[in-house]
Amino acid sequence: MSAEILDGRAIARSMRQEIADDVAQWVDKEGQPPTLAIVQMGADPASDRYVRAIERGFKGVGMLVRRVALAADATQERMAEALEQLGMDDDVQGVIVQLPLPLHIKESVLHKLSPVKDVDGIHPLNAGLLLQRSKAALVPATPLGAMELLRRYNIDVEGKNAVLVGRSRIVGLPMSLLLLHRHATVTVCHTRTRDLAKITRTADILAVAVGRPAMITREMVRSGTVVIDFGINLMNGEMVGDVDKGVAEVASYITPVPGGAGPMTNIMLMRNTLQAAQRQRELRDKA
Ligand code: NDP
Repeated sequence: MSAEILDGRAIARSMRQEIADDVAQWVDKEGQPPTLAIVQMGADPASDRYVRAIERGFKGVGMLVRRVALAADATQERMAEALEQLGMDDDVQGVIVQLPLPLHIKESVLHKLSPVKDVDGIHPLNAGLLLQRSKAALVPATPLGAMELLRRYNIDVEGKNAVLVGRSRIVGLPMSLLLLHRHATVTVCHTRTRDLAKITRTADILAVAVGRPAMITREMVRSGTVVIDFGINLMNGEMVGDVDKGVAEVASYITPVPGGAGPMTNIMLMRNTLQAAQRQRELRDKA
């Protein structure tokens, strides 16, 4: 058996058109496109590449991106001030902060993000709203993209055993909640999990966000499992996932790396920005 590919690139391409249409409608009504601000501290080639990819994507659907570059040694107060200013700026509808933050910056600075502009879903309010299954939650784009892939491939989640490997705030944990909200039975694994393979072999849906190249091997996956590989690792100049290539021989569906979960993240960030813009408009109309 060879797995069917969950083609994130193809789905992202078709969604790009849907979003471009929605943006055009927005511009007709509001006069100017939604804008995403990206806050970056210091220079980092990988982060620059990611930001350029976002800029290209947003431009392609008619939205705007504003880069806010802070010095690598900028203070906690400077970062907080930048986030507060963006929160008050009516020309900005979405804000993301490039992570990880430098060591001298405390995570709590992210509480200064305006929750309604937090299109990466990292503000505690959005994490809480996700927990409560509220429609108002802005949900991290990567797990949201994976759920959209499952939906568009008509892969039913209800009642399935879903196993997550990884519990990060931005991927593993929100993915576990999204699967739970869709009535999967969810198990979350991490570094302290005992006998990981025994648990991964129980999965109908296995989602992996670990950051270790090819860590999940064929022996750890039972026949027919749907596998979502969030991993992005560079090995000898090649991008590889957290799931070994051999898993495709036993899985029923699998996301390739590159071309699976990755392209969906960018597209969901666009959708979140549009959603944030619409929500801000509603709130202004109510005020
Ligand atoms: P983090 O480093 O924040 O989290 C990694 C998680 O994996 C932790 O929960 C950790 O457990 C767990 N883990 C690490 N080693 C093991 C192990 N040996 N056994 C079991 N669990 C383990 O990573 P992220 O979630 O941010 O990213 C994970 C991967 O996804 C990376 O490759 C990253 O590049 C990629 N990524 C992809 C995105 C996309 O757009 N597709 C977006 C964001 C990330 P513990 O909590 O115990 O430490």
